[in-house]
Amino acid sequence: MTQTLHIVGGGMAGSEAAWQAAQAGIPVVIHEMRPKVETFAHQTGKLAEMVCSNSFRSDDHEQNAVGLLHWEMREAGGLIMEMADTHQLPAGGALAVDREAFSQGVTDRLRAHPLITVEEGEITSLPDDGHWIFATGPLTSTALGEAIAAETSAESLAFFDAIAPIVYADTVDMTKAWMQSRYDKGETEEERTAYLNCPMTKEQYEAFIDALLASDKTEFHEGETAGYFDGCLPIEVMADRGRETLRFGPMKPVGLTNAHDPENKPYAVVQLRRDNKLGTLFNIVGFQTKMKYGAQTDVFRMIPGLEDAKFARLGGIHRNTFMNSPTLLDEQMRLKSRPNIRFAGQITGVEGYVESAAMGLLAARFAIAEIKGTPLPPLPQDTAMGALVHHITGGAEAKTFQPMNVNFGLFRPVDGLKGGRKGRKDRYKAYTDRAKAAWKEWLSA
Ligand SMILES: Cc1cc2nc3c(=O)[nH]c(=O)nc-3n(C[C@H](O)[C@H](O)[C@H](O)COP(=O)(O)OP(=O)(O)OC[C@H]3O[C@@H](n4cnc5c(N)ncnc54)[C@H](O)[C@@H]3O)c2cc1C
Repeated sequence: MTQTLHIVGGGMAGSEAAWQAAQAGIPVVIHEMRPKVETFAHQTGKLAEMVCSNSFRSDDHEQNAVGLLHWEMREAGGLIMEMADTHQLPAGGALAVDREAFSQGVTDRLRAHPLITVEEGEITSLPDDGHWIFATGPLTSTALGEAIAAETSAESLAFFDAIAPIVYADTVDMTKAWMQSRYDKGETEEERTAYLNCPMTKEQYEAFIDALLASDKTEFHEGETAGYFDGCLPIEVMADRGRETLRFGPMKPVGLTNAHDPENKPYAVVQLRRDNKLGTLFNIVGFQTKMKYGAQTDVFRMIPGLEDAKFARLGGIHRNTFMNSPTLLDEQMRLKSRPNIRFAGQITGVEGYVESAAMGLLAARFAIAEIKGTPLPPLPQDTAMGALVHHITGGAEAKTFQPMNVNFGLFRPVDGLKGGRKGRKDRYKAYTDRAKAAWKEWLSA
């Protein structure tokens, strides 16, 4: 039982994983390349450094999925949440933290733990034996990225995310939108009606282009090269190249008939594609963007049918190393081709400090059970942890896989509850009650 767990990367996921394993009596070595090898975003050599905002987002564990994830991590004795709570700053319903004190607190606790050793240095290959968790994050070093790409095939590892906004299906106004695949393509009725379509008149299209061009945009960080450009231009850049570019690109109206007004051909059509097997989430096809979040909601709600849309996540384009987890990882986050290696954190295709730490916690729990030879019962999918890991390891569409935040669209419906906006409060409470009971039961097993 004295087998060591090696963790590569002492960020959000790696730090939480190390804590969980050491607390369970497993010796841990954290391999962290900083400060010897730096990234463009990290500023220190500390563990669990927050590279940008200092927010862990909503702390509402009854009505918000990220708040529920906080709750589940606290319940599991998570170090990241303990330190976030200790170094909390006033921020209304959000959990904001003093980043310096937080990261110092995590570093001190891990370095002081008798079962944890921190080895500074870059890991550049995937080991053949031993127990390993790779949690090297969105800025995984180049040499290791190459090793992962060689193992998994180049197409399975992305170096930029190009995220189109994702909408909750039940917030689309279906008196304006309709379901149809272009040219009714497909073998089955489901395939022929796979897309949600939102029609635009000429006036609506022109106003939309004006709003896109005038919107506030985010700049790339210094050192974050823009090598993404081929094939995934931000929509505002496409619009800037010519007012008709989008109408001949992702918004082309061909092969589609407006089910609510079959006689009139739309001037342009915005298409939304199913984003999960549950059919609760749809992404706006081809709408990756560098618009600021506030601008995105204003501009996208100009689309007929999306006036009241609620977004599970907004769009973005960032430097982000992540793998095609739905094809590469099993349900215990092991690399299928090398099961002695688990992946955790943002490299698995979750997004955000909280989600990354949560996946570190989970990967460690799986590894602990394996090292101790005490198998765990299946992780309940109705917990926030379970919903998220289920999404990345199988629930998401592998072909269009992009990083995901935790959100209620990933949860299985609760029977007998009303859909739509009106029933949302009761529905969310039912999700979180169900999740808490299931998580407690799993932890106690
Ligand atoms: C520019 C930028 C801004 C971001 N802003 C936000 C934000 O505002 N809010 C938010 O929630 N999320 C943000 N993110 C995402 C955020 O980085 C992640 O959510 C979170 O830090 C991921 O945790 P992680 O443990 O997976 O990776 P990290 O926290 O990045 O930790 C990975 C660790 O692995 C180390 N490492 C990498 N390669 C190797 C190697 N080969 N050998 C050894 N060590 C290695 C790195 O030095 C790092 O310490 C941002 C990301 C970037 C790049």
